[in-house]
Amino acid sequence: MIIEHVEVKNLLDEFNDLISNSQNIAIFTRDIELQKEEKNTLHSFIEKAESLRKAENRNYSEPELNLILCLEISAEAIQSEVSMLINLKEGNMDAAWGNLVCAQNQTSIVASNHPFSNGDYLNGYLARLDAYEKLIFPKMMFASAGGIIRETKCSICKGDYEECDHMKGKMYNGQLCVREIHKIDLEEVSIVENPANKLCRVLTIERNGKMVDTLTLKGKTTGNNV
Ligand SMILES: [Zn+2]
Repeated sequence: MIIEHVEVKNLLDEFNDLISNSQNIAIFTRDIELQKEEKNTLHSFIEKAESLRKAENRNYSEPELNLILCLEISAEAIQSEVSMLINLKEGNMDAAWGNLVCAQNQTSIVASNHPFSNGDYLNGYLARLDAYEKLIFPKMMFASAGGIIRETKCSICKGDYEECDHMKGKMYNGQLCVREIHKIDLEEVSIVENPANKLCRVLTIERNGKMVDTLTLKGKTTGNNV
């Protein structure tokens, strides 16, 4: 592993210490107040890493910049996991689901971009998140939008995504490439089991002649059903 700059090396050491403590707190039975404190500690680390990544005149190499971004997103993933536990305890099931999906997405981004690893070291963590999904939440149905994409933009070069060479989900000099869809002609919305976006889910179902929340089965009187 080639890390030239001492502040990047120090950040990595700080991350390793932080994460071993966070993983000890990201367990359901731990005290909720400790978990709230841990979220703040993780937040401070994320801010520190971001300011280092965006600092000018430091001449960090591309692997170093991508490493810093990977550390930020890894800390965000644990923060999402801790938030999920807090929301489960406080009865905010909808938010807890959102936290789980964020943790999964964030971990996948790091696994496919880590500059000094093939990402296999995250398989155990991804399996842990998958276990949460299967054990804590009901089997869910999702909505998938289909249509003709008319205008896209690349978050790296700001040009037309279809024209440039950047790839969505890949990091470039500490920046994640996102394919932004600016115009789409929506053709259909279908219900699917394996969606591209697990945040786009069916929110209510009919049960005993009444619309209820898919997560809690509590009655719902307002809101859309997707
Ligand atoms: Zn581009």
